[in-house]
Amino acid sequence: MQTLTLLIEKLKKNRILSETEFITLLDGLKEDTKAAAMLQQEAQKTALEHFGNAVYIRGLIEFTNFCRNDCFYCGIRKSNFEAVRYHLSKDAIMECCRIGYDLGFRTFVLQGGEDMSYSDQAMYEIISTIRQAYPDCAITLSAGERDKETYQLWFDAGANRYLLRHETADPEHYRKLHPPRMRYEHRIQCLKDLKSIGYQTGTGFMIGSPFQTTAQLAQDLKFIHELQPEMIGIGPFIPHVDTPFKNQPAGSAERTLHLISILRLMRPEALIPSTTALGTIHPEGRELGILAGANVVMPNLSPLDVRKNYLLYNDKICTGEEAAESIEKLKEKMSRIGYRIVTDRGDYRKGDDCHV
Ligand code: SAH
Repeated sequence: MQTLTLLIEKLKKNRILSETEFITLLDGLKEDTKAAAMLQQEAQKTALEHFGNAVYIRGLIEFTNFCRNDCFYCGIRKSNFEAVRYHLSKDAIMECCRIGYDLGFRTFVLQGGEDMSYSDQAMYEIISTIRQAYPDCAITLSAGERDKETYQLWFDAGANRYLLRHETADPEHYRKLHPPRMRYEHRIQCLKDLKSIGYQTGTGFMIGSPFQTTAQLAQDLKFIHELQPEMIGIGPFIPHVDTPFKNQPAGSAERTLHLISILRLMRPEALIPSTTALGTIHPEGRELGILAGANVVMPNLSPLDVRKNYLLYNDKICTGEEAAESIEKLKEKMSRIGYRIVTDRGDYRKGDDCHV
């Protein structure tokens, strides 16, 4: 039987393992703390080689919590009648950007539910207005599944990146997490469209989502190897009290960290955030994520009064160091673990020129 150490070395060299090997590694890491430490060190080393001790920051603007979808895990699903709904006007979004720019952010991430009250054209105008006001900034969208024409229109307006997690690479598992109206095949098609248009494309999945098996995580890793996304966002599943999954257990921080490290070895140049969900289930989650090989944090730039309403899961942190206005505290936290926040756009760059 191959030891975990050999598997980690093989992963580092080949950037991929077989699904059986991934399963052995993921399950083995739970018991073998020495192998887990080695994985973490290798992943951290790889991130340091590619990015130095730089951590990129993205200002997260949660622009709407209206959603036409009904994902069983998500607190802003349309059947949650307890959710207090809001959406931001163009002016309110511009105000978030202004505040963010002054704080040093050079990437704005517009994230929200699938809110069809923003027409394609309305979004076009929001994106072009940001583009004109901040030519030196990157604009990232995370607004769910749309037609290729819409993605193209928004790209032409000046958006550079798009985040759309595939959620799970097993179509059967996908059906356990989503109502029938939502189709796995469509989500994957969206990812392909985004890539072909030229967006820096991000995908990802939750760790410990209900019914998830280790074999499915191995499939997620294989999917990422095939898609080669520029960005990879993962975080633990956290139950929300007003969803069908309210009694399901949360995913593990430890396993999330193992997966961040595995993904770093698979995709040395990728932009991998240390997510809010990880920071929510573990008090040092953000820092541990960076030490495990992540290189991005996404502080919250949403207006203070709406932050509490953008609740995908319970107990979401949003006013501590993860808040954009607390950037100084975040800088301090990062410098305590030997990292520094940088304010350039931090685009995906393949090859040696990405050293900073
Ligand atoms: N509507 C957009 C943005 C979704 S929110 C879209 O469809 O892409 C961003 C991510 O939050 C989701 O992709 C999902 O992976 C994650 N998420 C949703 N509910 C969650 C929960 N209960 N726990 C942890 N992560 C969750």
